[in-house]
Amino acid sequence: MTKDNFFDNSNLTKMSKSNKSQNKKKAVYPGSFDPITNGHVDIINRGLKVFDDIVIAVLENPKKKPLFTTQERISMIQEIFSDYDNTKVIAFDGLLVEFAKKNSARVVIRGLRAISDFEYEFQMALMNRKLDPDIETFFMTPNLSYSFLSSNLVKEIFMLGGCLKDLVPKGVEKKLKEKFETEHPSLDL
Ligand code: ADP
Repeated sequence: MTKDNFFDNSNLTKMSKSNKSQNKKKAVYPGSFDPITNGHVDIINRGLKVFDDIVIAVLENPKKKPLFTTQERISMIQEIFSDYDNTKVIAFDGLLVEFAKKNSARVVIRGLRAISDFEYEFQMALMNRKLDPDIETFFMTPNLSYSFLSSNLVKEIFMLGGCLKDLVPKGVEKKLKEKFETEHPSLDL
């Protein structure tokens, strides 16, 4: 091997680049996001340190009677991550494992706040594994200051006139105000 060949690793670089784009680590982060909170944002930012791409899957579940429509929830998330090219926001219903497969993701991210989340999340993770053994669930914990935070709590605090500073992104607070003032002036959560 000549010296030139020895140091010529352009093929190797090309190969690893193409492998990299094929093997991009992609995860799905599903939830109601009604509305997205700083806890969700924290989990997504942490997730992006581990995965190349995250698909944020917004659950269309009319039975849960969400405050915000699916499109409103999607728009709020898109606005927060508008500068990111490694997140995508998509509505979904049906089986999560099917959604993950359709989007070429083999990992589902879930956030674990307190022990109270554990039982339900554990059950879901095992059920999803039974439905598709190739899909792995990846649990992440948020910053301690968000470990008590939930979308329901945010709506309750807002209804009672409490301050949402540091709990939700600015745009979300604005949307909550609009929702209550214009659409649901007498909504009782
Ligand atoms: P919620 O449980 O608040 O109604 P979602 O259904 O939107 O929220 O939750 C989607 C995922 O995000 C779940 O895995 C949930 O445990 C997680 N999650 C929600 N809020 C937080 C938070 N403050 N910190 C970490 N994970 C969270």
